[in-house]
Amino acid sequence: MAGLVGTAVLYPVLGPAQSMLFFTSSVLIDSDHYLAYLWITKGKDWSPARMFRFYSRFTEHNREKEVLGFSLFHTIEIFIVVYLLAKYLSSFLFIPILLGMTYHMIFDIAWLTYHGVPTVRAFSIVEYFIRKRLLLKKGINPEDFYKKMFDLSEKK
Ligand SMILES: [Zn+2]
Repeated sequence: MAGLVGTAVLYPVLGPAQSMLFFTSSVLIDSDHYLAYLWITKGKDWSPARMFRFYSRFTEHNREKEVLGFSLFHTIEIFIVVYLLAKYLSSFLFIPILLGMTYHMIFDIAWLTYHGVPTVRAFSIVEYFIRKRLLLKKGINPEDFYKKMFDLSEKK
């Protein structure tokens, strides 16, 4: 919904093609949740309905201390890649995509902050691996949390 408002506001500046890119990237950035779900279920579960159930359980429990969220397209590294594509390949294509992703991130961070968990998801691939190592040292495997949420989502 916010994506539509942002697109409407930017439409006069960006024009139709770039507005579509902005809108599409502001929505499709979340497709990494689906990719993550396929990864968590080792490609055995492709059901979007069960994926949404899984993430509902995840959100309900995201205050637990062993939680470490990771969404590939929401990381600084991917933003840098898109920025480099804009700089060296096509600014016409990739600047609106980068703007759409940034716009989306502002709402995500605001939402997470509002719910008291601004850092539940790693902002960077490097950060994810560092935090995962630190958790593992404490005897906590963040992947166990994924499994727990998956079991919960199967029950309800
Ligand atoms: Zn998101």
